[in-house]
Amino acid sequence: MSRAKISAALAEEVRKQAQFRCGYCLIGEHLIGIRMEFEHLSPLAKGGQTIEENLWLSCRNCNGFKHTQTESLDPETGQLTPLFNPRTQHWFEHFRWSDDHTKIIGVSPEGRATVLALKLNHPMIVVTRKLWVSVGWWPPVD
Ligand SMILES: [Zn+2]
Repeated sequence: MSRAKISAALAEEVRKQAQFRCGYCLIGEHLIGIRMEFEHLSPLAKGGQTIEENLWLSCRNCNGFKHTQTESLDPETGQLTPLFNPRTQHWFEHFRWSDDHTKIIGVSPEGRATVLALKLNHPMIVVTRKLWVSVGWWPPVD
């Protein structure tokens, strides 16, 4: 399958809408020093299109773990649940930070399924968040 090219104008618009950060784990480009990837909310492999409404930013980790998934099991109910949609849903309605700000906790079915499917608390990022917290760079407030 060929990936449709994203025009420079569309890329810039989506980057601004996403505030230059990953829609899932909220890592910002200013923290990691590399650009986010463009993520197809509905994957190309499942018929998703390269249009503004279907694009958001994602870090390499989240994009890689999401791959072509659009739903996953909510670990609390065992129900197949749509993944969080960073374009149409508000992060803080589906997730919160642990008290030490190093882990993302899902507070809705979509949030819980997304934490699990995208491995939002993999050990390396938790260590990194600890360092960012220690210097006041984390967590993002909005
Ligand atoms: Zn991410």
